[in-house]
Amino acid sequence: MKVIAGNWKMNGTRTGLTDMVAALQNVETENKIILCVPYTMLGVESNRIYMGAQDVSTHDHGAYTGEVSAQMVAATGAKYVIVGHSERRQYHNETNDIVRQKVTAALSAGLTPIVCVGETMDEKQAGKTMEIIESGVKESIPNDTNKNIIVAYEPRWAIGAGLTPTKEEIAEAHKLIADTLMSMGLSGTPILYGASVKGSNAAEIMSIPNVDGVLVGGASLKPDDFIPIITSVK
Ligand code: PEP
Repeated sequence: MKVIAGNWKMNGTRTGLTDMVAALQNVETENKIILCVPYTMLGVESNRIYMGAQDVSTHDHGAYTGEVSAQMVAATGAKYVIVGHSERRQYHNETNDIVRQKVTAALSAGLTPIVCVGETMDEKQAGKTMEIIESGVKESIPNDTNKNIIVAYEPRWAIGAGLTPTKEEIAEAHKLIADTLMSMGLSGTPILYGASVKGSNAAEIMSIPNVDGVLVGGASLKPDDFIPIITSVK
């Protein structure tokens, strides 16, 4: 069983989500399917697909105009939330410290955070990939975390760019994440790979050791693109 999570980013409509849910209803798979959609689409009925948000406030409630708390997300029936996505880190200056506070907020509301870590092109070229991944995991996940968490390795330079790291690079990154999680008492935590996953590369990526599933951006928006990813592995 793999975890196949979609990240719709700021795309789609409620009707489009209803159509996607209907299209996924009869897909034969044992994989867990999660759709992380804009807040306004949460609450769409789905008994097979787990819903998630794409961000959450560090705060529980109060005078924080425009923010949405983890409890509010959970009240829609959503079970997951992406935290620390590279676009949040890039456009909203989210640091590992902020991400950790969001993970804490998500966990205390009963949501499973999908915590994203990964290096930029500059960091990759400076030979810092492993350092960024390890500090990303250690600093973004609170010490007292239970096991209700997912980590996603998303090389930031590859997201939405049609680029993917080599199999060896993915294997090395996921091994480091698995070892780091083990050192934190979190062995068994699912580790997803994300960045430019599509039907044609999904099976190969999910055959790499320590890759427990994928986080899919662009190719999760249309059933014709998403279903082949879901059915590419048992
Ligand atoms: C993402 O944004 O999480 C992502 C993986 O995007 P894409 O699949 O489009 O590269």
